[in-house]
Amino acid sequence: MLYRLKNAGFQAYLVGGGVRDLLLGREPKDFDVVTNASPEQVRGVFRNCRLIGRRFRLAHVHFGSEIIEVATFRSMQDVGSTAERSSEHNGMLLRDNVYGTIEEDVLRRDFTVNALYYNIDDFSVIDYVGGLQDLEQGTLRLLGEPHTRYREDPVRMLRAVRFAAKLGFKIDQACEHPMRESGALLAGVPAARLFDESLKLFMGGTAVQSFEKLRHYDLFSRIFPETDRCLSYQEHEFPITFVMKGMENTDIRISEGKPVTPAFLFAVLLWEPVRRRTALLVAGGMPMSLAIHQAGGEVVAGQIQHVSIPRRYTMPMREIWNLQHRLENPGAKRSRRLLAAPRFRAGYDFLLLRALAGEVDQELADWWTRAQENNEPARSPELPGVGDKPRRGRRRRRKRPESSGDR
Ligand code: ATP
Ligand code: MG
Repeated sequence: MLYRLKNAGFQAYLVGGGVRDLLLGREPKDFDVVTNASPEQVRGVFRNCRLIGRRFRLAHVHFGSEIIEVATFRSMQDVGSTAERSSEHNGMLLRDNVYGTIEEDVLRRDFTVNALYYNIDDFSVIDYVGGLQDLEQGTLRLLGEPHTRYREDPVRMLRAVRFAAKLGFKIDQACEHPMRESGALLAGVPAARLFDESLKLFMGGTAVQSFEKLRHYDLFSRIFPETDRCLSYQEHEFPITFVMKGMENTDIRISEGKPVTPAFLFAVLLWEPVRRRTALLVAGGMPMSLAIHQAGGEVVAGQIQHVSIPRRYTMPMREIWNLQHRLENPGAKRSRRLLAAPRFRAGYDFLLLRALAGEVDQELADWWTRAQENNEPARSPELPGVGDKPRRGRRRRRKRPESSGDR
């Protein structure tokens, strides 16, 4: 791509995480290209190209299943200096959509290590800002004045945490310093963007480090306020252990190439608020299954004010929570039905984590492990006092004999 643009008479550079990760010997997640060609000119060079974005147009060039983003150099001029850039709202950038030169493009980037340009002309890396040195030293340093840069875009604080977690870099003191107080600015970031960032923080293979650093800089409270309140209120150790185990588990699965779903992850992150609200409602006389249902709804409603988790995830999250009560009360016949429930597997994995964290008995988790192995829960009465509760109400006889192959 770089050659094609160059041969068409344009400047073209690889920039951002692609250059950074290649220099670190890591596999880049994606590649970003910048050029002095306008998006329309880029489209003229590539057939497999689509222009996206309304205000600031970007070119997406498709190669099979891969998409490479090609942006035109942008400038970040002083606020109010041009009519095109009516961009300020409490110092937050609303748009940065003025085309510029490479020298101007550098300055709008976040960290020095993200502002390196690979030049196809002579295979050199262009470094205007000391990014190579910071890369060598493992330092994340914002370009410009940190307060200002966080005010322009508070997500940069989350990006600092994410890169520090992922690359094992340390955040430069001057950039670290304002994070605790500037964290409040995250309230002004659209919840949809915080959802995207949350996925990157927790599904990038270093969820544990991300979580710890977010808590350290008091940023976790900005995006998961209710969870943070619950975790700070130390009644037992298990709530924090539970979240940590959940993050560990996610990281391990990712490193083994196993699939992870955001639903499970968010179900873990919000479990403690759900558990507490449920307990309150039950104490007020509500039946357990109703209480957990209502608590789940309330916790989700509160959370999506901050991080807009789409319904395709909140639905399974709530199913996972609802299953917990049923898993805690395995009756012989009910268990068989539960084994076939659509979210059984996720609910069971969730129960295992709770057991690991010491919130429920390991025995209960083991019982369900055996129940699946045998798929004969009716004949697994090993769990004392749980599987063999006396039945109340009607008893039904099965009319049909059980088929043996119903797994
Ligand atoms: P990765 O793709 O591995 O998550 P990345 O650094 O490539 O990391 P992207 O979100 O793909 O991150 O962004 C590409 C580049 O765009 C960054 O390296 C940075 O130069 C610039 N950039 C992205 N987001 C911001 C931001 N919020 N403020 C300033 N510059 C940004
Ligand atoms: Mg990238």
